[in-house]
Amino acid sequence: MERNLSARTRAVVAGRPEEEGQPTNVPIVPASALGLGYAREDGTPTWVALEEAVAALEAEGDSVSATAFASGLATVSAVLDLLPAGAEIAVPSDSYAGTRGVLDHAERMGRLRVRRITPVDTSAWVAAAASVDLFWLESPANPTLDLIDISAVVKAAAAQSHKPKVVVDNTFATPLGQQPLALGADIVVHSATKLIGGHSDLLLGLTVTADETLGAQLRDARTRGGATPGALEAWLALRGLRTLPIRYAEASRTAADLAARLDVHPAVTRVRYPKTGTMLAFELADAEKADRVCSALTLIRNATSLGGVESSIERRARLAGDSHVPAGLLRFSIGLEDPEDLWRDLVAALDSFA
Ligand SMILES: *Cc1c(COP(=O)(O)O)cnc(C)c1O
Repeated sequence: MERNLSARTRAVVAGRPEEEGQPTNVPIVPASALGLGYAREDGTPTWVALEEAVAALEAEGDSVSATAFASGLATVSAVLDLLPAGAEIAVPSDSYAGTRGVLDHAERMGRLRVRRITPVDTSAWVAAAASVDLFWLESPANPTLDLIDISAVVKAAAAQSHKPKVVVDNTFATPLGQQPLALGADIVVHSATKLIGGHSDLLLGLTVTADETLGAQLRDARTRGGATPGALEAWLALRGLRTLPIRYAEASRTAADLAARLDVHPAVTRVRYPKTGTMLAFELADAEKADRVCSALTLIRNATSLGGVESSIERRARLAGDSHVPAGLLRFSIGLEDPEDLWRDLVAALDSFA
């Protein structure tokens, strides 16, 4: 692919067949064997097309590679598979509940030592660099939208002789909002289930790295772990990726607009919005009020997951894994509906008790 293309163009042109006479889109190839090649080890053309396109969006350069997995959580297991037993890792005290579940389990089983750090406590992250083997960062965080200073962590890691690895879950920001590899991170992971897929119709995850050794190790981890993506899912994820820059820009505009309006609504006690991106969270006084808003909404779906073309809202503390977040916190995934329609829906629900 040509160099110096904008992200918007790369999302459209990457991962397409280049030979004359080939279909414009790599087809869905439902294959376990490709001649003597076995799909779990060697991949399939459908996975490779998606991997090429995600790699091209996340960073430029011949050494950049992506590996597609069965889900976002499968990438967590693959990254942890690179660590020896007893390794120490630094993780945010608040992050996606599923990721915390994997880490808690690894700690309970005695496989890893886990150090939990408040996302915004940059000096604690920097201080951890002396002892940890790997940083697992998620920024912005699901569902609190807390930010971690990725550059400060990268710098602290690089100053250590034992060179701890820095991994960033970039699911919320997408490559359009933030490029951790350019900031010096070693590995980026995505739940393509969310914004990359963008239509709430698949589960898939990807790792991306510019380090060829790590790229090969992640590929090996997939081969060993066997968490391979489905053919249809990979095809749908690539189809979703084609419009990601447009969806991300449009939904981000709506998110900024709604964040500003929610901020001055009397029923809203706090808006969490990192000033960019398609996700925000807002808080009401208690769980009961938040639940009432969720059931009064008629357009915005009261549903879990996020990143689809349809706006959705969820009170996260209802889940055991997120029971520590404020009871009245609503995670709000902004889609592509008209912002005025969304605002009317929100105001009607908020005013029903305010
Ligand atoms: C959903 C999510 C994951 C897990 O991805 P799955 O595809 O559901 O396995 C990981 N990180 C973040 C930030 C997520 O939102």
